[in-house]
Amino acid sequence: MAGTFIDVEVADDIKGDADIAKKLEDACPVDIYAARDGHVEVVDENLDECVLCELCIAAAPPGKLRVLKLYDGTALER
Ligand code: SF4
Repeated sequence: MAGTFIDVEVADDIKGDADIAKKLEDACPVDIYAARDGHVEVVDENLDECVLCELCIAAAPPGKLRVLKLYDGTALER
């Protein structure tokens, strides 16, 4: 389930990539991603803690991850 202010979209084709899962877990300062059994897991209860640092976007391949700002309808992506 999305947060009130923030949601993240991780492309299906990278969700099962263990290296990316670990990179995302390490990158996010507020623990929105967890590497569970080699899969990317989004930790829903932490979504609204997002500080819009874009470190997760830098850690994922281009076009594979978006941070959705539900409060203004825009998104961070590359
Ligand atoms: S933008 Fe920063 S705080 Fe937000 S989900 Fe990505 S890494 Fe975490």
